[in-house]
Amino acid sequence: MQLVVVGGGISGLAAAWAAHEEARKRETSIEITLLDAADQVGGKAVSNRSEGGWLTESGPTGFLDNEPVLDELIALAGLTKVPANEAAAHRFLVFGGKLREIHAHPLKFATGGIISPLGLMRMAREIFVPGKQGKADESVWEFGRRRLGAQAADRMLAPMVQGVFAGDSKKLSLPAAFPRMAEMEQQYGSLFKALIAVKRTGGKGGPSGPSGTLTSFEGGLQTLLLTLAAKAPFKIRNRARVNSILCADHGQWAIDLGDGQEMLKADSVVLATEGPCMARIFEADAPTLATELDTIDHPGVSVLSLGYPPEAATHFPNGFGCLIPRTEKPRALGFLWDSRIFPDRAPEGHTLVRALYGGAVDPSVADLSSEELKERATREICELFHCPVAPVFTHETRWQNAIPQYNLGHLGRVARIEAALKIHTEGQGPLQLAGNSMYGVAFGKAAARGWKVGQQAVSQPAMV
Ligand SMILES: Cc1cc2nc3c(=O)[nH]c(=O)nc-3n(C[C@H](O)[C@H](O)[C@H](O)COP(=O)(O)OP(=O)(O)OC[C@H]3O[C@@H](n4cnc5c(N)ncnc54)[C@H](O)[C@@H]3O)c2cc1C
Repeated sequence: MQLVVVGGGISGLAAAWAAHEEARKRETSIEITLLDAADQVGGKAVSNRSEGGWLTESGPTGFLDNEPVLDELIALAGLTKVPANEAAAHRFLVFGGKLREIHAHPLKFATGGIISPLGLMRMAREIFVPGKQGKADESVWEFGRRRLGAQAADRMLAPMVQGVFAGDSKKLSLPAAFPRMAEMEQQYGSLFKALIAVKRTGGKGGPSGPSGTLTSFEGGLQTLLLTLAAKAPFKIRNRARVNSILCADHGQWAIDLGDGQEMLKADSVVLATEGPCMARIFEADAPTLATELDTIDHPGVSVLSLGYPPEAATHFPNGFGCLIPRTEKPRALGFLWDSRIFPDRAPEGHTLVRALYGGAVDPSVADLSSEELKERATREICELFHCPVAPVFTHETRWQNAIPQYNLGHLGRVARIEAALKIHTEGQGPLQLAGNSMYGVAFGKAAARGWKVGQQAVSQPAMV
């Protein structure tokens, strides 16, 4: 059997490795080829080593160490995990122009200055708020307003959504974006009751999802992907952009790699690119499927890493970083203090700060030139952290299709995509979709989806 995996991010690599492992266990013969448009594997996980000892991440900071599939992949790569420093437990929010720590302890939270006494009283009433009736979709913000009050929705949930999705809490669908929160309300009737129940049974995690330790590797997150590629018992082709995937004879798929100049044949395909890239690939042969895929918004995000000399160190708190609500002055979505999170990110005594701009709440950031973006980030850092020192190092990444938005109606959209895919693949070999556009936005979720469909490519081969 010939399996082609398109996409060399964590989803595609997980799919290819899972198919190989499943075939090995079943003693089935399989030929796997992974194709990726970029120069090297990684997708959004790009770790850059720069002169002078700086190590920057263009994409994910790390992953939450709670996904068994990632453990399997790490074992296959033979790598050792590097947990985040303890300081990373301290997370901050900007409110009223000031940094405020988000405390988990109720008393510290209550006195932290983020929510007013009236807002806290409204939050305390959460336990008496009846559960949601009916199955209509609900935005994350509306859910927060209904259960915890408008202040908590504005000051807590909206920034959290910015931190995870670079998204707009009034547009994102709660059951699609934070399914655990929706489940907790359904199961316990209240978020506070759910938290108490989880604590009592010794469980971990909160309403926004299961907790875990933020984890990376020596050399950054991309080390995992580069090592999985270096050890791959299958073929990997970089600079291999797929233009389209067409139905071929005998149920096979024809993968067009160069405007018809190179066609690969496959019995089974896993497509693990971003949603808009999938749409372009299906445009010619499955326009309905392409149209549905195009409805998943993927706004751009600009990531600017700024390195500061030792004299700036005391201006940055010892913690993970801060989120910035849209009501505050800085345009940045947030700042991450990368060198406080993981070791080896900055030369001795220096501080590496990462600024994130854009997303669904500020798409026009893409119009700023590199100089304008750097000037803005430096000024905003100077004002917020009272740090008059200029950065001595910068690294910029602009992602076009950065993070998919699971907007209202997302679950219905996914169902329609699956239905259109079923019609398109009738009488053909399997063609399965992975990637983080539909089934979970985080690195671990993308790996889990990739692994699942990679296994299925071998365990449920085509009956054509
Ligand atoms: C700025 C930023 C910060 C993030 N932070 C975190 C975080 O801290 N924690 C976390 O869990 N998640 C984070 N994420 C999300 C995380 O990056 C993703 O979950 C994960 O990397 C998605 O992997 P993927 O393989 O599904 O897709 P991608 O990594 O996007 O890979 C898709 C691949 O498809 C390839 N491709 C596209 N089109 C074609 C084509 N036509 N032909 C061939 N190849 C093609 C691309 O080259 C790419 O390699 C962040 C994302 C961004 C952008």
